Amino acid sequence: MAAALPPPECVLCHRSDTSLDGCGLMQQVDGVCAHVNCLRCCICRKKGATVACRQKRCSRRFHLPCSSQRGCISQFFGEYSSFCWEHRPQQTVETLQEGHTTCIICMEVVEDSLSYTTMVCPSCKHAWFHRGCIQGQAYRVGLRHFACPHCRDQERFVPEMAQMGIRVPDIKPACEQEEEEELALPQLHGRCDARQCLYRGGREQWEEEG
Ligand SMILES: [Zn+2]
Ligand SMILES: [Zn+2]
Ligand SMILES: [Zn+2]
Ligand SMILES: [Zn+2]
Ligand SMILES: [Zn+2]
Ligand SMILES: [Zn+2]
Repeated sequence: MAAALPPPECVLCHRSDTSLDGCGLMQQVDGVCAHVNCLRCCICRKKGATVACRQKRCSRRFHLPCSSQRGCISQFFGEYSSFCWEHRPQQTVETLQEGHTTCIICMEVVEDSLSYTTMVCPSCKHAWFHRGCIQGQAYRVGLRHFACPHCRDQERFVPEMAQMGIRVPDIKPACEQEEEEELALPQLHGRCDARQCLYRGGREQWEEEG
């Protein structure tokens, strides 16, 4: 006769007891056992938080959409690590602001020192920006064009921004798509028989050039 299996252990708190007021009941998630309450989001307190802080011994878990509300960071490269607000990586650039510093992107004031929302270029140490503003920039231009808006550095700038949780998508940036469309214009106009030609120089100029 087979021996009775030991009760399953929660992968998060390593206990096997269940109680309705404490850890809650045991739940199977992705093939592992965990208490319902051990899987709660530490920000919204709701169930099913799949992102965990990477720091050893930190038990904070959260939903990805909740993470920015409390200053948690998720890195979108390598091991895709996440960190809670207490253990998130910080910029270590030593820099001083000159008087009231504004965001180089939106021109609104930034905080007095580096924080979750206020960041600086590690290369020129001169360009300050909001997290949301530099994230917007990264989405617009993509990996190949992402650079400090002030000194255009990529070598130190891009890895540091990625480290700080800025997502830099490897996409064809919007500006290149526009460039390609512009390049395609004369060709289109070669076949254009519209009464009002939209070619910038007018149809006559186009015909002269062609
Ligand atoms: Zn547990
Ligand atoms: Zn949540
Ligand atoms: Zn943590
Ligand atoms: Zn800004
Ligand atoms: Zn810079
Ligand atoms: Zn035309």
